[in-house]
Formats: sequence, C-alpha cells, structure tokens
Amino acid sequence: MVYVDVILPLALPTTLTYRLPQSWKEWHIGQRVVVPFVKKQAVGIIYKEHTQAIDHSFEIKEVTMALDDNPAVNSRQLALWEWIAEYYMCTLGEVMAAALPTKFADRTFALDQHQKLHINTSNYADETRDLSPLTEPQSIALNDILTQWQTHQTVLLFGVTSSGKTEVYTHLIAQTLQAGKQVLYLVPEIALTTQLTDRLNSYFGDKMFVYHSRITDTRRRDIYRQLLATTDAQLVVSARSGIFLPFNNLGLVIVDEEHEQSYKQADPAPRYHARSVAIILSRLHNAHTLLGTATPAVETWHNVKTGKYGMVRLTQRYQGMALPRLTLIDLNRQYHRKEMYGHFSDPLVSRMKEELEAGKQVILFQNRRGYAPMLICEQCGQVPRCPDCDVPLTLHLSQRQLQCHYCGYTQPMLNSCPSCGGRLQIRGLGTERIEDEVAQLFPSARIERMDWDTTRRKDDYQHILDRFAEHQTDILIGTQMVTKGLHFDDVSLVGVLSADHLFNSPSYRCYERAYQMLEQVAGRAGRKGKAGEIIIQTWDVEHPVFKHLATHSYEQFISEQLQERQAYNFPPYYREITIIFKHNNEQKVVHTAHLCRERLVRVFGSRCSEVITPPLQRIGGQTHRHIHLLIEATASITQAKRLLNEQLKAVQELKDCRQVRIMQDVDPL
Ligand SMILES: [Zn+2]
Ligand SMILES: [Zn+2]
Repeated sequence: MVYVDVILPLALPTTLTYRLPQSWKEWHIGQRVVVPFVKKQAVGIIYKEHTQAIDHSFEIKEVTMALDDNPAVNSRQLALWEWIAEYYMCTLGEVMAAALPTKFADRTFALDQHQKLHINTSNYADETRDLSPLTEPQSIALNDILTQWQTHQTVLLFGVTSSGKTEVYTHLIAQTLQAGKQVLYLVPEIALTTQLTDRLNSYFGDKMFVYHSRITDTRRRDIYRQLLATTDAQLVVSARSGIFLPFNNLGLVIVDEEHEQSYKQADPAPRYHARSVAIILSRLHNAHTLLGTATPAVETWHNVKTGKYGMVRLTQRYQGMALPRLTLIDLNRQYHRKEMYGHFSDPLVSRMKEELEAGKQVILFQNRRGYAPMLICEQCGQVPRCPDCDVPLTLHLSQRQLQCHYCGYTQPMLNSCPSCGGRLQIRGLGTERIEDEVAQLFPSARIERMDWDTTRRKDDYQHILDRFAEHQTDILIGTQMVTKGLHFDDVSLVGVLSADHLFNSPSYRCYERAYQMLEQVAGRAGRKGKAGEIIIQTWDVEHPVFKHLATHSYEQFISEQLQERQAYNFPPYYREITIIFKHNNEQKVVHTAHLCRERLVRVFGSRCSEVITPPLQRIGGQTHRHIHLLIEATASITQAKRLLNEQLKAVQELKDCRQVRIMQDVDPL
C-alpha cells in the first residue's frame, strides 16, 4: 500500500494523507490528483510519499483519480514552495493557491513531454535580432557584472535613471539564451508597457512570453504548461507572480526596479517579496541574479555593503543627458505673498508656460487620486467617513461621488453636512482637482490624467501613454503610475504639486520611499544633451530628503538611512515580523491581541512591541491590531518563528480568541 501527502490549494495547517489505488503502477511527485475532501472532490498535488507510521484512528481515503500522467509542478517549484511557506510563515496550500494559474484544475493541464504546445509568442521571425550596440560605460558595466557573478550569485546594477540599464539587460538576456538557458525578467506590473515589451519583442521574438495579470486565464495556463514541458531557452517577462512559473533550465533572473514596493504581496498569504523569492529561485537553479535600480532599497544596499551582493555602477545618462535639476518652491512664502493660482505657484506656472510654448511636454505628479481627499463641515468640523473603514471619504467630482479608497464603498455626493446641515469645505488635492485647475490655467493645452480611475479598462493605460508618446498630449497628470521607467523625448519639466504628504507616514521607510518616488519621477525629464527640470512645491524646503535629492547623492542618503535604522534597531539590522489581529468585533480583537502580547513578552522580552492600533484601524468593517516583533538579524530566525508559532497556536486555541484571525507578515513593508 502506498500513502502520499497531498497539497490542496487551501489554508489547511498541513498536507493531507491519502492512499493510492492498488491498480496504479506509476505515480509522480508533483502530479495532479483528484481526492475526496469534506464530502466533495478537490484537485491537489502529490507532495511526497508518506513514510511515517499511519495513524489508523482516522480513515485514510483513497485518491479518486490522476488528472495527467506527468507532474504539473516540478521539483524545484516544490522546493521553492517549501521555502516560501517556511520563511513567510504560511501553509503550503496557501503557496499553492498563489502559485498556480486559475485554470489549474482544468482537465488537460500538464502535457506529455513529446506533446509540446507551440503557442504564439509574437509575429517576429525565429532568429534573434541584432541588439543595439552598447555604449562604452554600458559594456564596461556588462563585463563587470560577468566578473562579479564569479564570486557573487546576486549583483546589483546601480544605474542612474536613463543610463541604459535595459540595454545591459538585453545583452545579458541574449547571452543567456544563446547558452541555451532560460531567463526570468521581473518588472513592476505597471512597467509592463508595450514600450518595454515591443522593444524586447523585436530582439527576442518567439523566444519571449509576457506573463501578468492583464492576460487571459487561458493564456496564463498555456504559458505555464509550455514552460513546464520544455528546457528550451526562453525569456519570460513578468510581474511578481512570474517567480511561480515552472522553469526547468533557468540561467538568469533579473529584478528590475528592485526597490519597488509592488514586489511585495501584502494580502493574502503568502505575503512574499518577489525580490527575495527570486534570489532563492535563482539559487535553486544555480543561476545568476541581477537587481537593477537607480535607487536601491535600504536592504539591498546593506547586502552590498556587507559583501553579500556584488555591485556595478552606471553613472552616465544616455547620450550625455545631464541629471534633472531640482527647484524647490516654498509654499509658505508663495501663499504669504499671494503668488498662487489655486494650488499652482507662480514659478511653476511660468515654467510650464515657457516649456509648452517651446513645444515641450510637462508631467505633473500627485500621489492622490480623486478630486480631494476629504470634506469637512465649516460649522461642526465633521468629516464624512467610510462607514466600514477608519478613513475620510474621497471626493470624486466627475462621478459626483464620495468613495472609500480602502474598501470601495461609494455614496452620492453630499451637498451639506449630514449632522448639522452646514456647508462642506473641500480639503486637499487629488489628481482630478489638478486636472481642473490646469484646464483653467492652460485652456489651449491638451491634458490627460493617468490614475487608477482613468485606467480601469484593459488598454486605457497603454492608450494614454501612446498618445503622450506621440505628443498628442501636452500635459500628463498622474499618480505614481507616471513615475515608472518610461521615457519620452519631449518631456522637459516635471512638477510635483505637494511633496509633504510623502513624508508624513509614521513608517520608518517613509523617507526612503519619498526619495525613491521623487527621483523616479524626476528621471522622466530631460533629453539628448539637455538637462530636464523637476519643480517640487513644499511647505518644508529644509527637509533632509531634498538636500540629497538636489545633488542626486542617493548613496549618502541611503547610508544615513542605514545609520538611523541601526540606531533604532530597525531592519535590516533586525528582522521584523508583524502579527496582525483581525475581526469585526473590536473587543475580541483587543482582548486577543493583549493576551497574545502577554505570552510573547515572556518569550521575546523587549523584542515584542506593545499592542499597536494601526493608522487604519478599521478596514471593511474589520478592526485591526498589530504587534511588531523585531529580532536581531544575528539571532536564529528559524528558532524565533518556531517560538512565535507555538504561542500563536496556543492563543488561537483559547475560547475567546478562536474567531479572531491572526496572521503573520514577515518583512512587512
Ligand atoms: Zn456639520
Ligand atoms: Zn471603506
């Protein structure tokens, strides 16, 4: 009798044991099977043979049937799943649910080895096109990377914006493909534009797949099973979920814009960071990893400084372009002198005018969508809030609606205060309001707005960019969507309407993020031989972030950030694990969190924080509480996680705590 452990794509605490039918002659680890589960049938994966003694007090059920002859998940994928489940403190079932495409349970999924699918990749011919030649600094960087890979598995390519990192990537990709190996090229979802993919397509044609959330389920399934069945040299360009694809012969993993927060999956579990997982994936294949960015994450910089990663610099911008010039506008002074047009200072307006008259384009950045982030009653001071979350409702004037940006709740616009009938005042600035003001200031300019609201349909995002690239638009207003690695020759000026809210988050990561965002958006400006300009309006011109931003001294900035992190015992010197408590009954959440903290303090002492009420304590009707654990990076994290799990399990078994959801977020952002 053969017993196997099966993973089901559910948050079950363990794998489940089943008996294989006696008629089976052959079976494989990673094979898809249908098994009885809670009066139903479920599709799972054979994880391994069950070799421990069988507990016969339970009935061990029999596997109903196999869905294919071959594994649908390869051994390296399973090894990666194990690593993710252990590191991010979740179950294999949760990893499986995230890892496999939605059409995974389809009848035909894993292919026979000989039955290779030839799915269309592109319209280009078979051969790899000639790559555009590298400039001298680029080719030096490329050789440096190759040298450093001999002693480091992971190398950081630290290149200023527009230094041609993508050029270096394409040459490395070509070399890897020529050596018969596969390449995974990760980019933030939003950078997956046709500007990038068309270019790569022209080089790599039918060797390339693009994998992200905007392609159909069928296409995702087809790419998955094509890769599963092949060891051929292939390039996958993907958002973070590409780390889950079934590579058989990986030679290179590139993580572009490695500092990007969108590489972290916040919810649901596994709460993984694709950069960390990519490095493990690469190691499992004995491949190389290249991280690329103009603004390395503090963690990455630390790994470079401690010798864990190699580093190569690219300090020259493409075609001798100078780095953008920073101009700060002091809003205190501007308002005091009454030199404001709505939310636009006099100098910003005149510079925009000059550039537009010279036939140039302007980008305006504001990281808030909607018209205004809140309304406030002039009489009683009340702020209309979401009934289910702890946040003010955002005014969307064009839809005549108030919206909650956290749970999606909407209600019609209010004309007066619901409690006293007083007049409602509009507070703050969103992209929609900027669009309104720009239209009044520049009536003949062609204006477009790019944010979540204007890019709801599949191709909206691309169309807005295409029109801007073809100079059918003069002014592009947008949220962080406009900060990604796009390049437009005619953009000479970038305006930031208010930078201050970027510094106001309580997170110790907030300066790092603000700098990265501003440097990225500034990088959109400039062209051949001419420096671009970024104008930032702020109430705090003395802010330390600006000092470094003005001279583009990111290295110094990040070193200072590291010193602070060290002084206050924050990552990367300490490992952070956040324990999240969540339930619709506030009392239960608070009670559970406190009980839990009492136990954790006994084990972890001062490494355990107080019970924290997060800035957003209620989301979608659920009350949240957090506890942060900060464990010395030098201590055994495995041991810490084991102790933590024991305590959480014990708490979860208490009568009053059973219904409260307790989750762990390892390396939270
Ligand atoms: Zn009122
Ligand atoms: Zn809400």
